[in-house]
Amino acid sequence: MNQQVRCYDCGNAYEVDARKRCECGEPLWFDTDSTDFEWPDAEWSDGMWRYADMLPVSDPVGIPPGTTPLVRADRLDEYAGCTLYVKNEAQNPTGSFKDRGTAVGVSHASETGYEWVGTVSHGNMALSTSAYAASAGLECTVFVPAETPPARLELIARHGPHIFRVEGDYGRLYEETLSLETDVAFVNSDTPLRVAGQKTVAYEILEQMQPTVPDAVVLPISSGGQASGVWKAIRELERADLIDDVPALYFVQAESCDPIATAYREGEPVVTPVTSEETIAVSIANSDPPSGTRALAAARDTDGAVISVPDDEIRDAMGQLSTKAGVSVEPSSAVSLAGIRRLSRSSAVETEDNVVAILTGSGYKERYDTEVRSRTIDLDDLERELATVVGR
Ligand SMILES: *Cc1c(COP(=O)(O)O)cnc(C)c1O
Ligand SMILES: [Zn+2]
Repeated sequence: MNQQVRCYDCGNAYEVDARKRCECGEPLWFDTDSTDFEWPDAEWSDGMWRYADMLPVSDPVGIPPGTTPLVRADRLDEYAGCTLYVKNEAQNPTGSFKDRGTAVGVSHASETGYEWVGTVSHGNMALSTSAYAASAGLECTVFVPAETPPARLELIARHGPHIFRVEGDYGRLYEETLSLETDVAFVNSDTPLRVAGQKTVAYEILEQMQPTVPDAVVLPISSGGQASGVWKAIRELERADLIDDVPALYFVQAESCDPIATAYREGEPVVTPVTSEETIAVSIANSDPPSGTRALAAARDTDGAVISVPDDEIRDAMGQLSTKAGVSVEPSSAVSLAGIRRLSRSSAVETEDNVVAILTGSGYKERYDTEVRSRTIDLDDLERELATVVGR
């Protein structure tokens, strides 16, 4: 596969690793010629490697991410205000979509002779990178914000990485790790390798739904890495003539930290950093998103939008997913459903529209404040106790 990277905006191309950003300042992605791409015959059990021809990797490491289920969630149609499908990315090996980009990044590092990989993360990407490094026999170093909860650190530590808890600005940390003189291959959220892996979620959605093209795909957004991957995939599939229509891409943020939604709302051409408040959606709290402007372009190009939702709606959507679809997700994932509800209320999405919510990460990693209704009973009283609930 050709290994050039290109700017989505000005079109400049560079050798891989020649630069971290385009001269114009925007992020780069792999220049992939998809003209001859067809839906593959490969096994669904190969995970995302069934699209290996379209990925910059020849020797994959670790458990294959991807080929996650896409299911109709009809019991949530009324709440969502549309014909709802959920793409359950929580079923990836470490419980989030991050495994797709990680698998590409760590495989590539291993193939090109690196002994170390690294990342900057709020938790999920650190966990994912540590796990894939372990499977490849590479050393791993992760940089997380100093205030990362101990429970998250414990999950990450199981895979044996070197963890740095960093005081100071996250946006600066992100950029600085990409320009360090170091033997560590950094696979941060919006690097070309990560975007290449992340695009496979959109290949899968469109392959799973074909010949129907969904009217909209809705996902949470933080750095803009996943959103960039989804947009890239759609452009590639269009080029390959595998879709004859394009889904609208809607990206959702938490209201307390919504730089991309703010730029969208105000009609700005670029995203600028905001000051943010705390949110329960910790995995998407990035006030200075490195691929924010690229994501803004994706939303506008596909006639979608970037919106934000308050924490109480996120919490409510999370409960709805657990009790009506049987999926436990973290708050940062529930923003997809909360966003769809908002979109249908403003008539951007309608009842008969086929809408896919990407559920980005598992709810089984952390404890939330769910009320536990239970009581202790005596083993001799089973039938009577059961009847108090069931009636008989
Ligand atoms: C990382 C993450 C996101 C945001 O993805 P970006 O590529 O940074 O925009 C959303 N949800 C979960 C669960 C995540 O871990
Ligand atoms: Zn450029």
